[in-house]
Amino acid sequence: MIITKIINGKEISQKVRDSLIPRIDALKAKSVVPGLAVVLVGEDPASQVYVKMKQRAFEKMGLLSETIKKPVDTTKEELMNLIDELNADEKFHGILVQLPLPGHLDEKDVFDRIDPWKDADGLLPANMGKMLLEMDGPLPCTPHGVLMLLKYSGIETSGKHVVVIGRSNIVGKPIANLLLQKKDIGNATVTLCHSRTKDLKSITKQADILIAAIGVPEFVDSSFVKDGVIIIDVGVNRVDDATKKKGYRLVGDVNFDDVFEVASAITPVPGGVGPMTIAMLIYNTVYLAEKKLESK
Ligand code: NAP
Repeated sequence: MIITKIINGKEISQKVRDSLIPRIDALKAKSVVPGLAVVLVGEDPASQVYVKMKQRAFEKMGLLSETIKKPVDTTKEELMNLIDELNADEKFHGILVQLPLPGHLDEKDVFDRIDPWKDADGLLPANMGKMLLEMDGPLPCTPHGVLMLLKYSGIETSGKHVVVIGRSNIVGKPIANLLLQKKDIGNATVTLCHSRTKDLKSITKQADILIAAIGVPEFVDSSFVKDGVIIIDVGVNRVDDATKKKGYRLVGDVNFDDVFEVASAITPVPGGVGPMTIAMLIYNTVYLAEKKLESK
């Protein structure tokens, strides 16, 4: 039997946050407190939870985080004006507009308006372009978090076959791109799969490292993988569970129990990729504060 190692996202995210403390202290010594503005439009319950978690994580590190709540009927013009104000406000080094937005607002308008040097999520077109060209800029939080999980777990990616399932702009595409780069955590041979991929299992079975970002509860089971595979499960899905107080539990895109025996390492859900996303948001805000200071 292969001894399976659980990749502990809580522990690794704490290590990432600890590594930021000297950088935060150096900024504070120059009277700069890294600050994040979070814009929440509407009452989406999951978004409210995410925003609270972000606020708490920033406060815990002695950083500034302000949540600006706007009603669900906020107009495009009102949202654009708010972004302009936040772009101009020097106490904020990062701006994050919590997605999804209500149906009448288009996230692309938001992407066009936020100052790319205040892009805490690392998802703006300018920064996606920089990522592609391996230029300096904030990286998308969840994909960057996946890289950190691999790095802190001592997992070699160079020359490995990484198969990513999912091609979204916020997860699949950037993860695939980052793992291709000529960097320490990179140099992988990457295959990017999606819903139109033919004979998915024949591809995923070749994976040394399998990354699932699908949004389908427990989609990947042991029939998808080879012995010894390393699995990173990005998925976060709510499934009904009457035994839980909330009436649901969180599961990933991977059937953890089924693949546990065959995998040589695996991230749990919750407690895997999730905590990394918030750590990398803090990372980006500190990085953007440093860049702002350098530019003065
Ligand atoms: P998304 O935008 O819905 O993209 C899902 C991707 O999976 C699409 O590319 C889709 O293919 C592909 N897919 C769907 N069904 C498939 C199937 N049967 N076979 C192969 N591919 C299939 O989702 P996302 O935003 O990337 O999120 C993915 C998951 O990660 C979700 O569970 C989400 O909650 C989670 N997530 C977690 C974090 C975190 O911090 N942990 C952050 C972001 C997202 P097509 O392109 O062909 O439709």
